[in-house]
Amino acid sequence: MPVLGMKILLIYPYFLEARVHTAEDVRAVPLGLYYVASVLKENKYDVKILNWHNFDETSPKIKEVLMREKPDVIGFSILHANRWGGVDIARIAKQIDPQVKIVFGGIGATFLWNHFLTHFREIDYVVIGEGEYSFLNLIHYLESDRSRPPTAIKGIAFRHNGKPIRNERAEPIVNLDKLPLPAKYFSYQHLSLTRGCVGNCNFCGSPQFWGHKIRSHSAGYFMDQIVLLYRNGVRWFYFSDDTFTVNHRRVVEICKKIIEKKLDIAWTAISRVDYVNDEILYWMRKAGCIQISYGVESGSEKIRNFLQKRITSAQIQNAFNLTQYHGIMARAYFIYGCPQESRQTIDETILLIQEIKPLSVIFYILDIFPGTRLYEDFKQRSGHDDDIWLNRTEDIMYFETDPDLTQEMILDFGQRLRSAFYEYLPGFVDAIELIDKKDFYPLHAKFYSRLAMTFDHGDYSQNEAIKDKNKIAGMLYRRALAYHPDATAFLGLAILSQKRSAYGEASRILSTGLTHFPGDPQLNICMGVTLMNMGEFKQALDYLQGYQDIEEAAHFAALCFQALKSEKS
Ligand code: SF4
Repeated sequence: MPVLGMKILLIYPYFLEARVHTAEDVRAVPLGLYYVASVLKENKYDVKILNWHNFDETSPKIKEVLMREKPDVIGFSILHANRWGGVDIARIAKQIDPQVKIVFGGIGATFLWNHFLTHFREIDYVVIGEGEYSFLNLIHYLESDRSRPPTAIKGIAFRHNGKPIRNERAEPIVNLDKLPLPAKYFSYQHLSLTRGCVGNCNFCGSPQFWGHKIRSHSAGYFMDQIVLLYRNGVRWFYFSDDTFTVNHRRVVEICKKIIEKKLDIAWTAISRVDYVNDEILYWMRKAGCIQISYGVESGSEKIRNFLQKRITSAQIQNAFNLTQYHGIMARAYFIYGCPQESRQTIDETILLIQEIKPLSVIFYILDIFPGTRLYEDFKQRSGHDDDIWLNRTEDIMYFETDPDLTQEMILDFGQRLRSAFYEYLPGFVDAIELIDKKDFYPLHAKFYSRLAMTFDHGDYSQNEAIKDKNKIAGMLYRRALAYHPDATAFLGLAILSQKRSAYGEASRILSTGLTHFPGDPQLNICMGVTLMNMGEFKQALDYLQGYQDIEEAAHFAALCFQALKSEKS
């Protein structure tokens, strides 16, 4: 296959601030970059994706890689918060090779194209909106003699005679299945079935970026992608559509195909509380869905209305009940620091949390981003223009623009919300009720053991605000085993016993576990360690020796040999 001359790097740059929530999942390269890259690959270009989310401006690797790769074009995937990372890297790239062409794309670039081209000479082009074909056409142009400005390429902006100009927007890709499968070339975990959202919230840039019409891949295309990735060893997926369940029939079709193909996968999705029902949740759980995130935003109807969320408390309650009932973790996103936020509206949110009993919650402070109605309102209110983004900050928090809200109030709101959630969480766990269907029992066991792990050594384990974490984990592991034998639950329970130095108890739990899962490496190693603690080194070796290829097992086996040797001498 001939490779055309241009060498292209696609970079996902670093953010200004380290992320506190792993749930923000900013570590993964945005899916759009894989689509852009696969369109380029299909057209025989030499293209590489670089995930530099964990770099900073001092990283020596930036220079080193750019000097080694010698790209002709660098495309950057820009969200708002990583735009400075993109600018910094672009500057370094231009210092190394002033001829390299720098292209910004993504949601952060789309709405600030003029700003970027006005203030940053190192940025040559901006791709606006859906980028796959605009970027490809731009590459074709860059390969040409460039005697005329690229005014015919839809969906790009550039500088002409020193002034930023923007061409007309490219038409949305009508048939998304015409896009090549990125999984043919890359391995990744974030997938999306659709583009666009049924919602129109005033703080979200998605509607303006994708347009209001929802477009979707077929179930067949989506499945082909999953199967290819599955063959590459991917077992964990994030379906990152704005509203994955927007087309019930298609989602059920996908779920049935996953089950039919016996794909042993786990996945999470994002949805809206008004877009789920019994049937879809049933199939989603059967097909491996373990978590659905819902934007609840606030317990105050007044605030939800302001945010134009268009959901009711009854819908929220119903979605959370149904989701949890099917053994899917229902995660709630809440936003605070909104206009007219007060102790009373925060109390309303706490009340709603008590009603819907979420097992996972993410609280955000309301931010203002370009591409949203909130941003247009901010510009009008404040008299600011896009130059505000020349500040080396990630975002504008709404409360900083509202004289009725102070930083002290916001801190207090956040603290009250978080403490209330952590205080009630053990009660929420206690109150879990799962659907009583025999075919769900093994899934329920997995649900409980996974939840136990979050208290035991996952997200909640380091959280001082949650009381009795080990007790909760133990209770959850036991609930798991009451449904079905589950290797994780046996292991978790045994480790909890080990922590209390109750080695006899641990060995009994592990013996039962090993009758169900005799070849499970972790259960065997844990049994070996338990027996070592009981001074039974010879017996311990029976469990460890079969797993010498696992470093941990080899290490403990060596300790056993040493102990036996010193016993003899
Ligand atoms: S916040 Fe969610 S529901 Fe609202 S427009 Fe954005 S993606 Fe859609």
